[in-house]
Amino acid sequence: MRDPRVLAAMREVPRDRFLPPSLAEQAYDDNPLPIGRGQTISQPYIVAYMSELLAVEPQHRVLEVGTGSGYQAALLSLLARRVYSIERIRPLAEAARRRLAELGYDNVEVRYGDGFEGWPEEAPFDRILVTAAPKTLPEALVEQLAPGGRLVAPVGGFEDAQTLIVVEKDEDGNVRRREDLPVRFVPMLPETEV
Ligand code: SAM
Repeated sequence: MRDPRVLAAMREVPRDRFLPPSLAEQAYDDNPLPIGRGQTISQPYIVAYMSELLAVEPQHRVLEVGTGSGYQAALLSLLARRVYSIERIRPLAEAARRRLAELGYDNVEVRYGDGFEGWPEEAPFDRILVTAAPKTLPEALVEQLAPGGRLVAPVGGFEDAQTLIVVEKDEDGNVRRREDLPVRFVPMLPETEV
């Protein structure tokens, strides 16, 4: 990890504030941790890795799919102009929205909804980060990527083995896709949960 903006953001965001109090002591270990409802906050290494791969610039508008605790959204908010984040489990979306507001990350908007549909009203996005694993890349998300945009997502049909995919759309709208690291994410699920 070399990107100084990502490293500065990692130092600045208080990861312990995105976890249940009983886990706050483990907040800075390099592990994923449970955040309730069967979901996890990702391992810091992989959060930093994906943030660097996304190559966010200060003027960018970024879509995140899978708000979870809100931690990744907070990091993105320090790197981008505006962040839109979607979470399919209502209590997680509400807790993340509250937490981000309390901590002053006021350029983040959290929506309860299905990330497979993206956020058409706010599209196109300069960057899209998916933090749960779909079996195949959702076409709506590729459509919502701006020309010159980049999308990073763990993709794959197995619960414990996916590949990080990087999709780039050129100025003419042509899409190129390449594979990066093998990763392990919770699956992206289609229906919303209340
Ligand atoms: N980025 C999060 C953070 O910083 O805490 C961690 C994300 S966690 C690994 C994956 C999240 O994706 C879970 O909160 C899960 O509920 C959510 N998710 C799964 N399927 C989804 C979907 N279709 N739309 C939106 N969110 C989804």
